[in-house]
Amino acid sequence: MSRIATLLMSEFVTHDVKRLVLTRPEDFTFVPGQGTLLAINQPDLREDAHPFTPTSLADDRVLEFTIKGHPEHHGLTEKLHALRPGAELVLGDVFGTIQYQGPGTFIAGGAGITPFIAIFRQLAREGKLAGHSLLFSNKTRDDIILEQEFRHYLGDRCLLTLTRESAPGYENRRLDAKLLKERIRDFSQAFYVCGPPPFVEALSQLLQNFGAKADNVVFEQG
Ligand SMILES: Cc1cc2nc3c(=O)[nH]c(=O)nc-3n(C[C@H](O)[C@H](O)[C@H](O)COP(=O)(O)OP(=O)(O)OC[C@H]3O[C@@H](n4cnc5c(N)ncnc54)[C@H](O)[C@@H]3O)c2cc1C
Repeated sequence: MSRIATLLMSEFVTHDVKRLVLTRPEDFTFVPGQGTLLAINQPDLREDAHPFTPTSLADDRVLEFTIKGHPEHHGLTEKLHALRPGAELVLGDVFGTIQYQGPGTFIAGGAGITPFIAIFRQLAREGKLAGHSLLFSNKTRDDIILEQEFRHYLGDRCLLTLTRESAPGYENRRLDAKLLKERIRDFSQAFYVCGPPPFVEALSQLLQNFGAKADNVVFEQG
């Protein structure tokens, strides 16, 4: 079933990622981490629906999406970034495999962080952040979505790695077997992995090599 939401505002949160704040249709509900199909409500664009993940809390009066633009594709994200307040969007039903299953380690690559934004905001509201860690890989500092919010929630349990830049306070390396072994003591905990398909495949394989059970690894492609 589709629903219409109106864009209230949008602003950049990094050089190429925007947060879009929409009205929330009363019957649009979701579990933090779930995604939905989103399209622009114009005759020529309505059928071009792509998956995105609400990053607001489920009971907020408004709905927030955090969307990385790919202007070089000349596709939907370029058009979403160009929308003005008052534009209408079409929301589909919610879906997705990333649902919170208890304390554990969250591993994200780039815009794959979006399902974890809603989950961490919900945990923060409930005062349940203890026992959670985040490993978040980006190319450079400028690419990190909501760095200060994650550092505030998690302190030294938030590890930020940069693959194309070296800077104090960040690990200048990939999320590889060596890093997982250094940072993770208990591979029987829950793991949540989200990012580009090669990232998700590599990380879930590494986790399983270290003994993580497939049931304890929840992954989705961002
Ligand atoms: C479950 C799920 C949830 C997601 N949630 C989010 C989210 O919350 N936030 C977020 O930012 N992203 C999210 N994504 C990713 C998001 O859906 C895509 O980034 C988005 O659909 C890209 O749309 P686009 O039209 O701009 O580009 P595309 O659909 O990638 O491309 C549009 C056109 O450009 C062409 N094209 C493709 N690649 C290139 C290239 N490299 N150069 C030139 N042309 C190219 C394609 O052939 C196509 O015709 C999610 C993905 C999934 C699966």
